[in-house]
Amino acid sequence: MDQPISSIPLVIIGGGPAGYTAAIYAARAGLDPVLYQGPNPGGQLTITGEVENYPGYKNGITGPAMMEDFQAQAERFGAIIKAGTITKVDFNTYPRRLTLDNGVTILAQAVIIAAGASAKWLGLPAEKKLYGKGVSACAICDGFFFKDKNVVVVGGGDTAAEESLYLANLCHKVHLLVRKDHMRASKIMQERVFKKANIQVWFQTEVKDIIGQEAVEAIEVIHATAITHIEAAGLFVAIGHQPNTLPFLPYIHVDHQGYIQTKPGTTQTNIPGVFAAGDIQDPHYRQAVTAAGTGCMAALDAERFLQQPHGHLQNAHNH
Ligand code: NDP
Repeated sequence: MDQPISSIPLVIIGGGPAGYTAAIYAARAGLDPVLYQGPNPGGQLTITGEVENYPGYKNGITGPAMMEDFQAQAERFGAIIKAGTITKVDFNTYPRRLTLDNGVTILAQAVIIAAGASAKWLGLPAEKKLYGKGVSACAICDGFFFKDKNVVVVGGGDTAAEESLYLANLCHKVHLLVRKDHMRASKIMQERVFKKANIQVWFQTEVKDIIGQEAVEAIEVIHATAITHIEAAGLFVAIGHQPNTLPFLPYIHVDHQGYIQTKPGTTQTNIPGVFAAGDIQDPHYRQAVTAAGTGCMAALDAERFLQQPHGHLQNAHNH
């Protein structure tokens, strides 16, 4: 199945807020976009709880429900939403060549990369061994397993704060480990954490090891140079994300943190007709609403690109 099966005006890679917003705009512009949802349809919002800060949802909405709304809105205008992950690309040819995880190759005249970012891990061997046996990166997915138990959360950002607060309502006690002497989380989230009686914040504390054979039993930490054990049945890692750029790296320029670089004020990458939107190109804001905003920009940029003649790209190396 390695023969190209179709040529599509616009392929959107990724089914999160950026991808769906691009699909809404592109479908309304008559570009007949096809969106591939990737390995986690709905993106990171499907592992979030309540979204309180997306304008328009005045009473808040759950992440998964919001993503269903986005998808339905894109489909209403004729966007084709497909399951499947782009695992390989060839941006030296035009139309651009994209290979799916099932081996099918498709051709696209324009591409919007909105593949998002994934949770980072600490990199300890025990983390892999005990993943799903107490180690998790999603409190909302797995928190229930730790009802009335003690858990540890690692990280000092909004995600760690949010996960700690969620777990504090379920668990007996939450130990939040912050490696610096301050948290990076927004003030309002920090205040909520500090107010919660069963959250203990440990500053200047890092995980050294995870103790347990079949399940997490305790976390070995270095706290202000001393080694201590915290008894806990769960370890929730909430230390940020890395952009999902792997299939694009041979062609697309990224910055020192691995985020796709775009021409300032646009979503244009270094490859003509290939645009980037959402968390994969945003090391700073990483909000659903900013992702949606850049998704809109990418659709408008792609529309402008598709209106121009681009036959000159056909035989060229396009860097
Ligand atoms: P961030 O990158 O903001 O924070 C990551 C945290 O993890 C930092 O405190 C960092 O420490 C710490 N960290 C990184 N690596 C390690 C390590 N190896 N060991 C220990 N600690 C480590 O990521 P988040 O996922 O928290 O947030 C991402 C974005 O999403 C932010 O813009 C945030 O505001 C937003 N967000 C908003 C929410 C909301 O508004 N409700 C909810 C969740 C996220 P250090 O500070 O020392 O670098």
